[in-house]
Amino acid sequence: MNKSALVTGASRGIGKAIATNLAKEGYDLHLICQNNIESLNEYAEKLRLSHNIKVKTYAGDVASYSFIKDVFSQIDHLDLAVNNAGISYVGLLQDMSEEDWKNIVSVNLDSVFYVSKEATKLMLSNHSGHIVNISSVWGCVGASMEVAYSTTKGGINSFTKALAKELAPSGIQVNALACGFIDTSMNAHLSEDDRAALLEEIPANRFGSPEDVAAALLSVVNGSSYMTGQVISVDGGWI
Ligand code: NAP
Repeated sequence: MNKSALVTGASRGIGKAIATNLAKEGYDLHLICQNNIESLNEYAEKLRLSHNIKVKTYAGDVASYSFIKDVFSQIDHLDLAVNNAGISYVGLLQDMSEEDWKNIVSVNLDSVFYVSKEATKLMLSNHSGHIVNISSVWGCVGASMEVAYSTTKGGINSFTKALAKELAPSGIQVNALACGFIDTSMNAHLSEDDRAALLEEIPANRFGSPEDVAAALLSVVNGSSYMTGQVISVDGGWI
């Protein structure tokens, strides 16, 4: 039987690159997005044909526990859960509405709880498994104009460390990747001047790609079975 992985936010950006790498590794996939289900379905078909794997796709809001429970009701075996879906909010805290605050906390953080809770139930019976949370360097150091986003990612980092301790006796590893600037549509709002200024701060002298994060994820999943509770930066030496 193939190994099986679930990836949230798999329709584009980092999640899509992660799905590609896992397909190459021979994982059967459960891929979640919110809106772009047609392009996700097209991509899933490519992965099925190229890698001879099973791929199921789901469209819904990861902030809804009933949606996540519905997805998991269709999964009987899971080796890896990747909590990747996320949104950003850029603006002063004083201008942020209560609705926007609740939305970003719900999409970025509640979803990690829902998916990890359901994934753990499946992994406990195998006494093995990985949960990898896609976090941000802003969760480690905080970013001006991104207080809510930094809060959710800081929460993910603590969640990772705490759950790792809880699940280590059960053979389940929990780690996070704290990404720096990864060149995806999440950063599409930045001007050329903003991009140039950011680039100057990054020692690697380039932005990260979704493939850089996907490679880091594989190194976690294929690496030491003794490594858990770690928040690993993937940021070109930036922070
Ligand atoms: P992206 O290109 O904007 O893609 C976001 C993905 O998440 C899409 O697949 C989207 O689905 C899905 N998604 C968003 N809200 C959702 C919801 N409520 N329910 C279900 N799916 C939802 O983002 P990205 O840059 O790849 O970011 C992926 C993760 O990396 C996020 O957690 C982000 O915070 C983190 N990260 C990114 C960077 C960066 O510089 N890009 C840096 C640090 C951390 P649809 O296509 O259907 O909308």
